[in-house]
Amino acid sequence: MNIRVGFGYDVHTFALGRELWLGGIKIEHSLGLLGHSDADVLIHALCDALLGAANLRDIGFHFPDTSNEYKNIDSKILLFETMKLLRQKGYEFGNADCTVCAEEPKLNPHIPAMQKCLSEVMGVDSDAISIKATTSEKMGFVGRKEGIAVYATVLISKI
Ligand code: MG
Repeated sequence: MNIRVGFGYDVHTFALGRELWLGGIKIEHSLGLLGHSDADVLIHALCDALLGAANLRDIGFHFPDTSNEYKNIDSKILLFETMKLLRQKGYEFGNADCTVCAEEPKLNPHIPAMQKCLSEVMGVDSDAISIKATTSEKMGFVGRKEGIAVYATVLISKI
């Protein structure tokens, strides 16, 4: 069978004085996420799922957070480069299903814009990108509003 699945997970902590970038778009909020890049935790989880599906290691292997080249980088560039790696290895994207775990802000109004943005960066149909939002029912680090966690699953196939 020429289809493969991949799974990705990432987490970033909230910080004052940072912009909140999620799913490739900027969301107005009192806090942003801390990170070496723009800290787009959704894109990072998605990249790790894509790389995992193609057995291409992980996002830190390709884009090290010790490198100045990636300081404050727009994570959409990392996603674009990840799709290039995938296609170079002879794979095409099938679909993705992502779950964003955040107590705040409310993400549902932003999901269509995230789907549109990610699908344009990846060069795929926006219907192939599912993004779901949930809270953690006030439990754990997400529940205490310390940060955002994202889980992503993808399917790819060999061309
Ligand atoms: Mg990350």
